[in-house]
Amino acid sequence: MRIDPHAGFGTRAIHAGQEPDPSTGAIMTPVYLTSTYVQEEPAKLKGYDYSRTCNPTRTALERNLAALEGARFGLCFSSGMGAINTVLNLLRQGDHVVAGNDLYGGTYRICRTLYEKLGVAFTFVELTDLAAVESALRPNTRLLMLETPSNPLMKICDIAAIAAMCRKRGILTMADNTFASPFLQTPLALGVDIVMHSTTKYIAGHSDVVGGALVLNDEKLHQQLRHFQNSVGATPGPMDCFLVLRGIKTLHVRMERHCLNGMQIAHHLEADPRVARVIYPGLPSHPQHGLARKQMRGYGGMVSVELKATVEEAKRVASSFQVFALAESLGGVESLIDHPASMTHASIPREERLKAGLGDGLLRLSVGIEDAADLIRDLDRALAVLRSAS
Ligand SMILES: *Cc1c(COP(=O)(O)O)cnc(C)c1O
Repeated sequence: MRIDPHAGFGTRAIHAGQEPDPSTGAIMTPVYLTSTYVQEEPAKLKGYDYSRTCNPTRTALERNLAALEGARFGLCFSSGMGAINTVLNLLRQGDHVVAGNDLYGGTYRICRTLYEKLGVAFTFVELTDLAAVESALRPNTRLLMLETPSNPLMKICDIAAIAAMCRKRGILTMADNTFASPFLQTPLALGVDIVMHSTTKYIAGHSDVVGGALVLNDEKLHQQLRHFQNSVGATPGPMDCFLVLRGIKTLHVRMERHCLNGMQIAHHLEADPRVARVIYPGLPSHPQHGLARKQMRGYGGMVSVELKATVEEAKRVASSFQVFALAESLGGVESLIDHPASMTHASIPREERLKAGLGDGLLRLSVGIEDAADLIRDLDRALAVLRSAS
């Protein structure tokens, strides 16, 4: 079955890249648990030679992800970091990279602790400030990495404006589209060269697998990245690919519910006197709400909330949920809560953390797809700790 590339998102999510198994009619893509493939005669292949290089379950996933982003090529990795590392493999000594100043922590870490040592220079800028982005570009800037919405402050940067600025100068752009998912945002259509995903999050969606992906249109760049994918070997196994493919079949349905629940919770929290501010791109109070409306098709399930609370109080709130689970990661069907000051961003010294806008009372919610009424009751119950404390 060849799926029309212009078919709706849900149809592509369920069918693209997959066809019934020709030998049995099995409707689901088999998990090809094989490392090698028999050749008819030396170097005469039936399409595959070795499973680091490629595997049919992975091929189905790569084609599916490309279809979701409206792109020509997809490449899958054993983690989101494996995908990012492969993009950074394009760099050489003396190159300069511009990236957001609130990048995912793991991305920041690989830049500072690995690539800087190899002679690549990095500038981390406020991506919502286009003048600052422009003045950070140098003649040797080779790559710009953006992430929108950002983590955990949900800042929205102008993908089309940044992509155009870089394209004019021949600078490659990579957008980490993990928080939005292709259902809500397609950066390639806005001019970006490479879209990156941690498929661990919304794409797989069930907190049961770690994976990453790159999606792009340029054939030469695809060849280069595929070469690094095979050379480095951070490739996913067929079972992992199967789990991601299965998750994707409900991506559109899940995202719709994430958006509904996220919006309801954001509104509920915004009306609570114990809350200093709610950060959700779907709220008119969000500083880049207009831009979010322009480049996103919905606002997702990530909601950050700054409580009027000390670190200790916020930790008590975070520990008082019954439905939300206290855990890092995001994007699964179940709701999670994170206290950046003591968890995901604990390694940043307090002064620096406060300067970056990550207050002591900041909580990051990954709103799942449970019943909104239960989630709201759970939030009210946890916030009640605050009332008795103060
Ligand atoms: C989780 C995450 C990553 C890293 O992906 P892994 O699958 O954990 O390696 C990168 N970027 C963002 C925005 C993420 O949330």
